[in-house]
Amino acid sequence: MKKPPFLIVAIDGGAASGKSSTAHALSARFNFLHADTGSYYRALTAELLHRGVKPTDAQSVRAELADLKFDTQIIARDARLKIHGDRISDADIRSEAVNAAVSHFAALPDLRAALLAYQRGLADLARTHGFAGLVIEGRDIGTVIFPSADFRIFLHADPHERVRRREREGQADAVAERDRLDSSRASAPLTCPAGAVAIDSTHLPLIEVVERIARLITVRRMES
Ligand code: C5P
Repeated sequence: MKKPPFLIVAIDGGAASGKSSTAHALSARFNFLHADTGSYYRALTAELLHRGVKPTDAQSVRAELADLKFDTQIIARDARLKIHGDRISDADIRSEAVNAAVSHFAALPDLRAALLAYQRGLADLARTHGFAGLVIEGRDIGTVIFPSADFRIFLHADPHERVRRREREGQADAVAERDRLDSSRASAPLTCPAGAVAIDSTHLPLIEVVERIARLITVRRMES
């Protein structure tokens, strides 16, 4: 039987729109490497805060970035960012301080540029490790990182529902404020990529969102 083609699935959307759960489920179903790029922006934010750098000080941010070395640890099917060989804990990247600062750091073109090649390189990493594809989620994946991904998906959900999701996870997160900052920045703003499949997950169970995307992937694999 012919080997299925290596596929890249780009999932974009606002905070708590269901990207991570959806990407996780697709990764398990199709043996795709999963990259949560929000966690990379969070890890960089935690590192810079730890170094005492403020997002308003673009010059210091640039100087610190020049010193950072990235690599990847694959845990099960998740590609985790390591900075100088260390992985910042999940608790640290999801702290209130990081929630409050991450969109300010993510608006800086230097910081986005520092992660660009790293994120694109994950496709080769996935191939090298024998994964059947890459499912990568964020805010600018279908617009900037992988504009020719095999599938570009845009998830959205009612803002009140998204706040409720974060509260159920026990997190204090200014979802609307992060979305406002992410959508209005000049550099790689959050927007629905042209030609993307847009799915409103407000009233749709996760399993239904996953099924819709899984059907598209299955059809593509059968066609090739
Ligand atoms: O996905 P998550 O909500 O964890 O992302 C945290 C923040 O990282 C976003 O609010 C956004 O400011 C930034 N981000 C980004 N581009 C991405 C992924 C995340 O600017 N591709």
